[in-house]
Formats: sequence, structure tokens, C-alpha cells
Amino acid sequence: MRNPSQRSLDIPPFIVMDVLERAQQMEREGRSVIHMEIGEPDFETPEVVRQAAIAAIGKGETKYTHSLGLLELREAISEHYELRYGVSVDPGRIIVTPGTSPALLLIFAALLEAGGEVLMNDPHYACYPNFVSFLGGMPVYSPVFAQSGYLPDLDDMAGRIGPLTTAVLINSPGNPTGAVMDEKILERIADMGVPVVSDEIYHGLVYDTREHSILEFTEEAFVLNGFSKLYAMTGWRLGYVIAPERFVRPMQKMQQNFFISAAAFVQRAGIAALRHTQTQVQDMVRTYDSRRQLLLNGLREIGLPVPVDPRGAFYVLVDARHLDPDSYRLAFDILERVGVAVTPGIDFGSAAEGHLRFSYANSSDNLREGILRLSEYVSGVVNGEI
Ligand code: PMP
Repeated sequence: MRNPSQRSLDIPPFIVMDVLERAQQMEREGRSVIHMEIGEPDFETPEVVRQAAIAAIGKGETKYTHSLGLLELREAISEHYELRYGVSVDPGRIIVTPGTSPALLLIFAALLEAGGEVLMNDPHYACYPNFVSFLGGMPVYSPVFAQSGYLPDLDDMAGRIGPLTTAVLINSPGNPTGAVMDEKILERIADMGVPVVSDEIYHGLVYDTREHSILEFTEEAFVLNGFSKLYAMTGWRLGYVIAPERFVRPMQKMQQNFFISAAAFVQRAGIAALRHTQTQVQDMVRTYDSRRQLLLNGLREIGLPVPVDPRGAFYVLVDARHLDPDSYRLAFDILERVGVAVTPGIDFGSAAEGHLRFSYANSSDNLREGILRLSEYVSGVVNGEI
């Protein structure tokens, strides 16, 4: 019997999914768990979006679409970038994908030759290095630190660029830090002479600040974005890439082979999300902001230091080294003992080891209950009972 391929053996798990799956198993056994691990909005997808999908199914929009996506959706995405950032994007440069994750695959498959390097910050979204390595590339890390608000050290980044550097990958607002890069930083990154891959999936989820698209500073960039977070549509699987023109056909061919197209009625829902959810999105953002304050205050009160107030996305990164420097062991111990699911920092790179990521995409009541349970855990450790 053949063994699984080396590639499939080598890819690390997405640890947050392991935490979630263990938590779900505990729930099946009758235990209560407060979920602060996954980056998944607790809100229901806005009604107008659900209705658009239902109407599309009613009309029989249940077939494959053009492999680049429905033109009307690509036009709506183009309008969105024009309105929000003042940039002009030809719909012909947009490729609609079944989620942002496939968009990452298409981009790096189109960019990387064997051994090509992708420069990214550490901490970073857990899956980035796995996409790069899976496609034969090499992730290269530029660490970011709490003292600088988890913002990139541009000199350090520039110093890591060499002949093998294929792309710089950025994510602002960032997962897991919630850091938001300002115009000056983006401009400097755009000027580094390397294609920029900008993951803009948390755009719109910003508090007391505003975000900028990399396309305001360069056209030699790949934007990836999606509907999972801002529109509470994780399960719909809808995302997109905006690519330089010469990359569209190669990426389109991969999409044809690997995914064919995103679901037609889901694309119709995407059009409704972009065009008709302004007030619902505003309400969700306001709610996230108040939960952010609640969680920040609650964590600090129980002696869990948050080195930097996040300004975007829906995560808080907590320094938990005084409890246990091994974040994986700590997260599973917290889950087992007090029924709070959090993500170990190590999922996001070695710079986040000793930290825990809390998601506040959960109700205020659940966040309060989670903090209460965590305070028991923290005092248990402090009193030497754990
Ligand atoms: N990028 C980042 C930074 C994310 O946090 C996520 C989801 N956790 C994704 C991409 C993937 O999102 P999706 O595939 O649901 O669009």
C-alpha cells in the first residue's frame, strides 16, 4: 500500500481548527465551551444577502459561471474599490474565487518558482507559510514587536529582500495582532521593488482609524479579499483576487482546472452584500468595537496583559508567558479546565509563542462568561493550584 505523499504529510495543521474540533467534542459530551478561538462572526449573514441567494436559486442560477466570476459581481467589486479607495480597477483584472483561501493558492501558484521567497511579518495569519511551502516556495519572516504596535520594521524588511524574493505578503488590518498599517508604511512597502500581495480581508473592520488599499500606492500588487468577515459569510465561501493584467489568464487557467467557478447563487449574494448592506455592516462594526473594549478591559482586570490595543479585525493578542511559555499546552489546558477555547500564539509564528489570540466575534454575554472562567484559571495558576 502506498503512503500519503510527503507534501501531504509535511503540511502543518491549522491549529485553531484542532482547538475548535476538540471544543466541539467536549460540547457533544455535554460540557459548555465559550468560543473565542475562531475568526468567525457570530452574526447571521444580513437578510438581504440571504434573500438574494434564495431568489437566485429560485431563478435556477445553479450552474457554473464564467471562470472569472459573474461580470456583475466583478463590476460591483470594481465599484467598491473605486468608492472606498478612489482606485480604478478594470473588472477584467478580478477573479472571483470560492473563498479567500483559494485566492491565496492561485496567487502564490502564479508567482512562485521553486525556492522563491515570500517575505511576511511574524506573527502572521497561520496558513500563509503553508501555502508558500506547499507550492515550493520559502517563507521569510520579518518579526514585528509589541513596542512598535506590531507594525512592520521597514528597514528590517528591506534588509531581507534579495534575488530570490518573489513577493512581500502583508495583511492590514492584521490577524492576529489587529494592527493597521498607515499610508506611509504602505507606500514604503509598495516602493520596495517587489510585488506586494495584500490580504485585505479585514478591510472595513477598523475602529477609530481607517484602512488603505495597497492599490492606492501601486498597481504591481495582488489584492485578495472576501466576504467571510465583513459580511459574516464564512460558510458561503466567496472571495476574489485583483491581479496585474498579465497574471489574469494564468490564474484563470488554474481556477478552471482546480475550482471551475464559485457557486452562481453565492456570487449573487456577494453582489447584494457589496451593494445593500451598508447599515448592517455599520451596526456590526459598532458592536465589534464595544466588544473590543469589553474584552480589553476584562482581560487586563484579570491580569492578562494586552501589550497593544488592536485597531482592526476582531482579535486581541494576549501575552500569557507568565502562565506558561508553551502556548499550545496552555490553550488546551485552559480549554480542558475551564471550557474557554482560545488560539495558541504559536499558530501564528514563533514571534507569537507565549501569547494567546482571543476572538471577539462572539456575544458580549459570552465574552463576559469567558472572562469569568479565565479569571478562575488565572487565579488557579497564581495560587499554585494548576
Ligand atoms: N486571510 C486571513 C488573514 C484570514 O484570517 C482568513 C480566515 N481566517 C482568510 C484569509 C481566509 O478566509 P476565507 O477563506 O474564509 O475567505
